[in-house]
Amino acid sequence: MNPGRFNAPGSNNRSHADKINGRNVEIAPDAVGAITVGHEMGHTMGAGDQYSGGINANGRQLSSDVPGTQGAIMRDYGGNSATQQTRNEIENNATQPGNRVLNCSSTQGSSCK
Ligand SMILES: [Zn+2]
Repeated sequence: MNPGRFNAPGSNNRSHADKINGRNVEIAPDAVGAITVGHEMGHTMGAGDQYSGGINANGRQLSSDVPGTQGAIMRDYGGNSATQQTRNEIENNATQPGNRVLNCSSTQGSSCK
């Protein structure tokens, strides 16, 4: 695998996001549908891979699967929910430069619809 790309596991024509917190996602023609789209969108929101050989949220290549993540969306196609680690990575990423957190307690005068 090319560690410079953030690929979904299991695809020959690898789907990928350009980087963690990136804005460019390409979905391969043989991708595994919504799971692959969700995995790649997870990267755009700051989530890292959780499978051996993938890239974690800090940009480092994983030498082994993250323990306790079997079936989770950032690891494989098991159809399980995102792990707490993934949710934390997305939440922590929300305040990074270029991202906005909207207070949607009211839609009046806000960008929330
Ligand atoms: Zn990935």
